[in-house]
Amino acid sequence: MGGTFNPIHYGHLVTAEEARIQFNLDRVLFIPTGDPPHKDGQKITNAQQRYLMTVMATGSNPYFYVSRMEIDRPQPSYTINTVKDLHEVYKDSQIFFITGTDAVLDILTWKNPAEILNLCIFIAATRPGYELDRLNNIKKRLKDELGIADIKERIHIIKIPALAISSTDIRNRVRTGKPIRYLLPEGVANHIYKMGFYKK
Ligand code: ATP
Ligand code: MG
Repeated sequence: MGGTFNPIHYGHLVTAEEARIQFNLDRVLFIPTGDPPHKDGQKITNAQQRYLMTVMATGSNPYFYVSRMEIDRPQPSYTINTVKDLHEVYKDSQIFFITGTDAVLDILTWKNPAEILNLCIFIAATRPGYELDRLNNIKKRLKDELGIADIKERIHIIKIPALAISSTDIRNRVRTGKPIRYLLPEGVANHIYKMGFYKK
């Protein structure tokens, strides 16, 4: 599961756990981005801090691991490189790419989308505001424009209890003095206040 994780929240954690259980995954690797090519202009909390918050949030789950592979790679780093590297490391494993449905809608803007879809199976979690109609529409486009005949087997939708939580909303809440408790693990929330993140 890749993401900015700025900060990590219960939307990410519920999605990862649901994917793990439904697909019987051996482990879930959280991969915080370095300097994400899609988020130019947005101020990103230092990659090391996003990494640390991700470690804090996932530590209690024996199946969850955090990778520095994107953070430590020269930027910009692309999903295709990450997926290829994962294939090198986990040679005989099937790789799944866990995302929210919003990310699937963006796949056509990524570098080498056809190759990515060929190398891993997507597990996309429903997310409020991103209806399944739009997703089916993008699946059709991926099929037509990239010529991926078995698109049905390449992207699976999982339903998670609707969690309208986003990192953007959490950052806005901190900036405007609204509560963030119960939207993300308590330790991460405390760390955010302690370090003074997202104040402006
Ligand atoms: P931001 O608001 O900064 O974009 P975000 O909450 O979308 O943050 P990301 O780090 O961008 O979090 O997301 C990483 C991955 O997790 C993406 O694939 C995204 O679709 C998915 N995701 C994030 N929040 C949810 C949620 N509430 N439900 C399902 N999937 C989610
Ligand atoms: Mg996002």
